[in-house]
Amino acid sequence: MRIPAFALRAWLLWLAGLLFCVLGWAQPVAVSLSGLAEPASLDTYALVLEDRDKRLTPDEALTQAHLPWRAADGVVNFSFSDSVYWLRLRLHNDGPTSVTRLLEAGSALQDMVDYHLVRQGRIVQTVETGDRRPFDRRPLPYRYPVFPIALAAGETVEVLLRLDTHDGLFEALPLRLRTPAGFLHHSQIENVAFGAYYGAVVALLLYNLLLSVLTRDRVFVLYVLYLASYTVWNLCFTGFGLQHLWPENPHLGHTLISTTVPLIALTLTLFSMHYLQTATRVPRVHRMLRWLAVLAVLHLPLAWLDWYAALFLTVMPLLALLLPLLLAAAFVIARQGYRPALFYLVAWAPLAVGAGLTLAKIVGWIEASPLVEYSLNIGSALEFTLLALAMADALNRLKAEKLQAEQQALQVQRALAADLEAKVRERTQALESANAQLQQVAITDALTGVYNRRSFDATLRREYNRCLRQGLPLALCVMDIDHFKPYNDALGHQQGDQALVAVAQALAARVQRSTEYLFRLGGEEFAVLMVDEGRERALRQIEALRDAVEAMALEHPASPRGCVTLSCGLVWVAQPTVEQTPDVLYAEADKALYRAKQAGRNRTEMAP
Ligand code: GH3
Ligand code: MG
Ligand code: MG
Repeated sequence: MRIPAFALRAWLLWLAGLLFCVLGWAQPVAVSLSGLAEPASLDTYALVLEDRDKRLTPDEALTQAHLPWRAADGVVNFSFSDSVYWLRLRLHNDGPTSVTRLLEAGSALQDMVDYHLVRQGRIVQTVETGDRRPFDRRPLPYRYPVFPIALAAGETVEVLLRLDTHDGLFEALPLRLRTPAGFLHHSQIENVAFGAYYGAVVALLLYNLLLSVLTRDRVFVLYVLYLASYTVWNLCFTGFGLQHLWPENPHLGHTLISTTVPLIALTLTLFSMHYLQTATRVPRVHRMLRWLAVLAVLHLPLAWLDWYAALFLTVMPLLALLLPLLLAAAFVIARQGYRPALFYLVAWAPLAVGAGLTLAKIVGWIEASPLVEYSLNIGSALEFTLLALAMADALNRLKAEKLQAEQQALQVQRALAADLEAKVRERTQALESANAQLQQVAITDALTGVYNRRSFDATLRREYNRCLRQGLPLALCVMDIDHFKPYNDALGHQQGDQALVAVAQALAARVQRSTEYLFRLGGEEFAVLMVDEGRERALRQIEALRDAVEAMALEHPASPRGCVTLSCGLVWVAQPTVEQTPDVLYAEADKALYRAKQAGRNRTEMAP
């Protein structure tokens, strides 16, 4: 009958425990190499010793009989402790040939890992490694400390590991044993997977950096900072940073990891606050987030003082508070109907699944597999991508909103411009008509409505020039009402005004041609200007006007005639000369008028 391997192992462990109790000192169970899985977990085969005073030398740890070694009950994880811990393992090559195995201390962050190989009770090889030591001390260039062990056929060796910390924070340290071929295969897969991951993250980083420069949108800047913090943290956490980027400078890795963890908290908080618009949508949560951001900033001095354990002791509860708060805020905001919050929640889902799978693997609910191994990285890569898409969507929305706003503004502007134009047109028209009225008023006599003296001066000058240029005849007649002063005296000034209006109307009714003008020169004096009119015709027209006034038979008690009459002085030139200026013409007409008055009034006299 074959005894199952696990039963045998359990029995051997039990026996080791018994021996430990009986003899007071312990020898670890020797792990037979044949029949081990690839890779083989050695955690449960190790013995553990806590060295509170950190005084033991490797030889003392190996030989002192009374030391309280105990069996490890799973993956060793001492978390916060000021002690040094010793681990012991025995490996037995039960095959017929010599073999090499690789022992992996599976953490990139354990500060000090001192490896001692023991053959026949004596330490034959010592390697001092861990991430507080330069990378080139490692026997194999790998992100975790890995120790190659050669075993002759039938040989049994012992491995003694001394684990120490900078200031009291231990990492979980799975112990795995691999064959050289298995190790090669594993590290190749890992390189491809992480290469793809970092490639994707760097591409996203550059793309969003470009967007943040182009858009100058703070949300992109914060996202880039979050992504950069996470990436640097990831490089520290996986050990690739120490291996490839700062192998000579392990101190830098510690400064970086203890700076990036609070920075992730800070940048994620600020990014989420801006992206989700928590200030307006969930003001109370916003205030809490602001305080958490301040707390995150307060961690940075701890990082730079290298108070590593203290920093992680307080930053972990901070993250444990922050993440549910952010998700709750996103949930509430998504329910308010804000689409970016929905994207945000969706983006977190793959990371949550990755974290869940990683946790389930650690707890032992699911088998380890490459997919599970890298689920956290896959989840985070998906999160970053989805968040970037979410922001692109937000950008699109902003663009559409901006376009709409611009169009609205343009429409309003156009309407305003049209309105303004109509108003300007209206005002211009009003102004033009007012101007025209003013102009009319300026050239019209207020009492009689015929052209006034100012108009007479301008028209005479203009028509004189025209006739001078074109060689046309010009006639000017000055008319004066006879005995008007007595008329006023007899009938009153008001009646005098009415007489003036009646005379003007009688004259205007007969001065209709476009070449004839009627003016009131002032007082009871009128003038008629005629262009391009023959001498006889001009005289006839003036006589007709004088007759028309007489024919009105406006009663004039102080006139020998008994009615209102006119005396006229007419000057006619076939073609004005330069000497016959308007003033000269006017003076001649006036002289003729004087003669008409002298000759008895109510008549027309012509200038010679
Ligand atoms: P003559 O026949 O010589 O022209 O005698 P006359 O009385 O008309 O002489 P004169 O030119 O001295 O008198 C003009 C009078 O016209 C003086 C004034 O009383 C009167 N007059 C002048 N302007 C107005 C006016 O606007 N309204 C009225 N009612 N009378 C006016
Ligand atoms: Mg007069
Ligand atoms: Mg008069």
